[in-house]
Amino acid sequence: MREVEDDAVVLRTYKSGESDRVVVLWTREHGKVRVLAKGIRKITSKLGGTLEALAYVRVHLVKTRGEFYIARQVQHRERLTTLRSSYERINAGYAVVEVVDAIPSDDVADEGIFDLLARVLLTLDDASFDPTLVPASFFFRLLALDGSEPVVDSCVNCGREGPLVAFDAQVGGTLCAACRSGHTLSPEGLALIRRILGGDLANVLREAPPPGAGEVAMIAQDSIEQHFGRRLRVARSTAPLTPRADR
Ligand SMILES: [Zn+2]
Repeated sequence: MREVEDDAVVLRTYKSGESDRVVVLWTREHGKVRVLAKGIRKITSKLGGTLEALAYVRVHLVKTRGEFYIARQVQHRERLTTLRSSYERINAGYAVVEVVDAIPSDDVADEGIFDLLARVLLTLDDASFDPTLVPASFFFRLLALDGSEPVVDSCVNCGREGPLVAFDAQVGGTLCAACRSGHTLSPEGLALIRRILGGDLANVLREAPPPGAGEVAMIAQDSIEQHFGRRLRVARSTAPLTPRADR
């Protein structure tokens, strides 16, 4: 019997049988694990509120046999009430956990990914940060963690420093007019992507979505899909395609 005590983020849950759910967690020290939450769909279940998607929890799990763990005890690490009060923040969170769920890594711990994920939830829970570019910035950080950060300081094809007019996720960066392929990149989009990758993210998120936000969201999305080699459903439907006109 294997016992686990760890911090975890709930990536998603799905039904199993009459009243059970399977809860997919990304834990700090044990990677992705699946928990069979028995009776969680009954009204009286004590686990119900703590094992919902996007929950940030402390778990005590026990593995008996098979692929599933059983939850002994689950407590909120953070209640994330600001995140949970806004559809925009929830959707941004879903876009992020869907990508994490697509990482092929069962039982392989990756504390770097856990820390990024926890930070994203706390950022989305902070009312002083705008959620629009949170998924995009998370995707770029994840690529960087994997050694696949896009090139944005020169043409990824010929090395020319500028002007850079396009971004192609397939070749992994910005391109000059002679080499261009992929998305058109405006000067505002280029400036924004450089700020995000260059360590100015906190200030970017404190502003209303700046010019170029729609482009950058699409580029980040394409880059992460290219990296994992498949289309991501939730992320695609919630990524802003144009900067919001009301700010
Ligand atoms: Zn070039």
